[in-house]
Order: sequence, then structure tokens, then C-alpha cells
Amino acid sequence: MHTFIQQNRLISMDTKIIDGLALSKRIYDDLENRIKKLKNIGTTPGLAVILVGESSASQIYVKNKVKACERVGVLSKQENYPENITESELLNHIHRLNEDNKINGILVQLPLPKHIDTNKVIEAIDHNKDVDGFNVINAGLLMTGNPLFCPCTPYGIMQILKNEKINIRGSEVVVVGASNIVGKPIAMLMLKEGATVTICNSKTKNLELHTKRADIIIAAVGKPGIINGSMIKYGATLIDVGINRNSENKICGDIDFPSVKNIAGYITPVPGGVGPMTIAMLLTNTVESSERSIKTQ
Ligand code: NAP
Repeated sequence: MHTFIQQNRLISMDTKIIDGLALSKRIYDDLENRIKKLKNIGTTPGLAVILVGESSASQIYVKNKVKACERVGVLSKQENYPENITESELLNHIHRLNEDNKINGILVQLPLPKHIDTNKVIEAIDHNKDVDGFNVINAGLLMTGNPLFCPCTPYGIMQILKNEKINIRGSEVVVVGASNIVGKPIAMLMLKEGATVTICNSKTKNLELHTKRADIIIAAVGKPGIINGSMIKYGATLIDVGINRNSENKICGDIDFPSVKNIAGYITPVPGGVGPMTIAMLLTNTVESSERSIKTQ
């Protein structure tokens, strides 16, 4: 990375575009080896994926997860249920999977139909098989600095930062977005690594006041261009979690890529940054769960 200082002004920086796809492939290779070792001792990690209803977006997400399982050798068990399944029927399926020794991870594709209480469903998953890391036991373990399963997107972000050797300890980290699946857990992981963390939400009064002093910005809002070049400091690391469609119907993130380029030190592109890491970490959680179950047998 190069910076040029002229009359006390930084005028250029080669922004490194982080290749999340390449990193995810390396993670898959590593998982393949770990799975081979498990198979040699008679165990195959198993992931159950529950899909309720016919949403085409959810079908694509589930298909990609099942495909990734096949790629590395995880046994996948996809269970599809109709939109009108009752809450108690769905809970019974989860209880059955909780008891199934061949299943190390249970994932319920969200969103669920409105007549089903999503929290109740997430809480029904045995926390030892909660590979999405969404239930309150896993959220609590993460909060208290002793995570069992980290939610996949935040876990993937940590791998990206680690792989790029980006310093977290003592850094100013600004998380934009405070959801239970991205914003809050990534803030906890950053705190655990010694960062000073600010979490912004829709009520934050002056977003750029915070983002301008950040060494690392995690944008997880779902609004294209919510972060632009005038809101960041030179050399900042930008992690773009957002998945949106721009005016040309193309996939884009939350960060205005052209305006931050040559100001940021690092940026994850959309697509090809955080996205591929999310599924890689789902499989990592499943394999870790399988390895743990061997140790406790
Ligand atoms: P979410 O549940 O909709 O939460 C959005 C968060 O953004 C909320 O905390 C909201 O604040 C905050 N927010 C809204 N407007 C804001 C503003 N003007 N300034 C600051 N914060 C603002 O979203 P999510 O599920 O975390 O997802 C966020 C984005 O990431 C979406 O585009 C989603 O598609 C994408 N995503 C990508 C991946 C991946 O694998 N790459 C995974 C998950 C999500 P309040 O709390 O005040 O409402």
C-alpha cells in the first residue's frame, strides 16, 4: 500500500480489494481435510437445513448451502415444509433433529411465515447444534466472551481481518447496523479482540462523526451508499456486509465503492467479499460441532 504526503496532505492510496472468494476456497480446502480425518474415524459431519414455504430467495440460499456441503463432504439433510405448517409441527421436527446423532448442525432458513414465532423456533434448536449462532444461549456465550458458535457472517469477517493481518487490538471500530445476526455479534467479537467499539443504528444523529475516526468500519445496514468517501479517514479498513440492488439492478453493498477507492486502505467488494465467507463459516461451524461431539463422546 502506498501513501503520498504533499503539503501535509495525503493525496493517494492504493486500496487493497479483499478477495473473499479466494479465502473461502482456502477454508473449503481446509475443511475437506478435517472432514476426511473425521470420516477415517467413522464420522461424517451432518447439517440439517429446514426450508418453510416457497420463497425463491430462500430456495436459492438453501440450494447454495446444500451445494457447499456436497463440495466439502458434509452430509446435508434438506427438509422442505409447506407455508401452512403449524408452529408445533415445525417445533416437533426440530426436536427430532436435536435427537438425531447424525446431525451436528440445524439451520432454519429465515424468514419464516408470519404465523410462526421465529424466536421460539430458534430457541428450540439445541444450542450445541445451533450453527447459525442465533439462539440466546449462544448469543449470551458470545456476549460473555466465550463463544461456542459465532454467527456465520461476523465469524467470516473476523477470518478476513485475520487473514489480512489487520490490527484489531486498540483500534477504533465503528459498526453501522445493530442487528442480532450481524451488527451486535461482530461488535462483541471486535470487543473480545481488544477494539474500542461504537455501534450505530437508525437513530444515530451524526453518522460521519463516528465513521470519520474509525480504523475499521463494518457496514451492515442494507442501504446502498450509506458510507461514502467523505465519511472515512485515509487508510481505513472497510468491511461491506450489505447486499442491495442498485438503480441498474446490479448487486451492490452499503459502501459507495468509487468514492472510497484510493482513500480506504482495504475494502471488501460486493459481490465477492463477505458473502462467500458466510457459507464457508456455516460449514466451519458444522465441522467444529462434529469435532466437539467426538471429544465429548
Ligand atoms: P437488519 O436486521 O435490517 O438491520 C439493519 C440495521 O441497520 C438496523 O440495526 C438499523 O437500525 C440500522 N440502520 C438502518 N438505517 C440506518 C442508518 N441510516 N444509519 C445507521 N444504521 C442504520 O439488517 P441485517 O440483517 O443485519 O442485514 C444488513 C445488510 O447486510 C442487508 O443488506 C443484508 O442483506 C446484508 N447481509 C449480508 C450477509 C452476507 O452474507 N453478506 C449476511 C447477512 C446480512 P435500527 O436497529 O435502529 O433499526
